[in-house]
Amino acid sequence: MASEQSTTAILERLIGFASVSSESNLDIVSWIEDYLSQYGVASRRIPDRSGRKASLLATIGPDDRAGVVLSAHTDVVPVAGQNWTTSPFAATRSPDRIIGRGATDMKGFIASVLAHVPDFKAAATATPVHIALSYDEEVGCLGAPDLVAEIAGLRETPLLCIVGEPTGLGIGYAHKGKVARRVVVTGRGGHSALPHRAANAVSAAARIAAFLDELALRTARDGPHNAAFDPPYTTIHVGSLHGGSALNFVPDRAALEFEVRYTPGADAAALLAQVDAAIARERDRLKAQAPEADITVEDMASYPALMTAPDSPAVRAAQRLAGHAGPAMTVSFGTEAGIYAQAGIPTVVCGPGDIARAHKADEWIAVTELAAADTMMQRLASQLGKPAKVWMNDDKQ
Ligand SMILES: [Zn+2]
Repeated sequence: MASEQSTTAILERLIGFASVSSESNLDIVSWIEDYLSQYGVASRRIPDRSGRKASLLATIGPDDRAGVVLSAHTDVVPVAGQNWTTSPFAATRSPDRIIGRGATDMKGFIASVLAHVPDFKAAATATPVHIALSYDEEVGCLGAPDLVAEIAGLRETPLLCIVGEPTGLGIGYAHKGKVARRVVVTGRGGHSALPHRAANAVSAAARIAAFLDELALRTARDGPHNAAFDPPYTTIHVGSLHGGSALNFVPDRAALEFEVRYTPGADAAALLAQVDAAIARERDRLKAQAPEADITVEDMASYPALMTAPDSPAVRAAQRLAGHAGPAMTVSFGTEAGIYAQAGIPTVVCGPGDIARAHKADEWIAVTELAAADTMMQRLASQLGKPAKVWMNDDKQ
């Protein structure tokens, strides 16, 4: 039992679950449920519609007090096509690191949280800890909204949420939001010698792509600008454009995918309204040529931006817990943090490891990084006998 409690041993177990987003995550969820129940900690699943996936929420300590959320996702990105020198779903241990899919993104953080369940259990008399584990983060934060709604409905709203994505334990107080959409153009096919009787779907998609590029340039130039981000403005990007099969045939179908990554406070809705208007113009133009033509738009993924005030009690408390000397920073990647913040929970991004190692072959985390996360969890445990609003606002600690 003793070895089961160490962060490294738990991480090795967690890596062994191939919880790729396309697969069910119920195996890793039920292992964590069993682990928690060994310590008398009840947890509840928040399932998806298919029943193949679930988030897990466990509260340690008094549920009628304001607490701290420790948030992570259980899913990992695929390994197909990557050049792994180790087995991605069987942890490899070297003297200084653990290698395996999810080591840094973000099972190392989960392992450190779970290893400290006994400490939280013993200490949490005044501040509860909520362990919140989602699914399908890597394919667009699909699991988090239901989980966050559950947390927002707790008797007392938490005063701090730490999303343990890899920041080297630096405190991320802000990141951009994202909206990703797929545009499908249906035109009318026909012989290329008779284009006047057809409606060219590829041409319409190309005009939409050109509009998006123009809008991107205008947005970069006109702002709003926020120097805390790189680049310091909202970006608009066309990621794919497919259509057409032969030169002598007018294409009747095309599809493009684009994303908007917006700075906190930028009016993403206004930008998207401009895109919708451009798409409506193309739709009218196509329909004038072929009444059955159409353009549909579907949401692929979205998450809100994060903007927690860098001098807020949540950021300062997280800095003390992490023991990180540097100033709070923006992070370049998206997380579930914006969803928590939108629900009124002060949220930061802070976890062990380096995002540069995420999603890659031979993903790893250093043993020293895990030890630093453990120190953070111990510092948190040492505060749980006091109400959160007391220790979080005590800057002298
Ligand atoms: Zn992640």
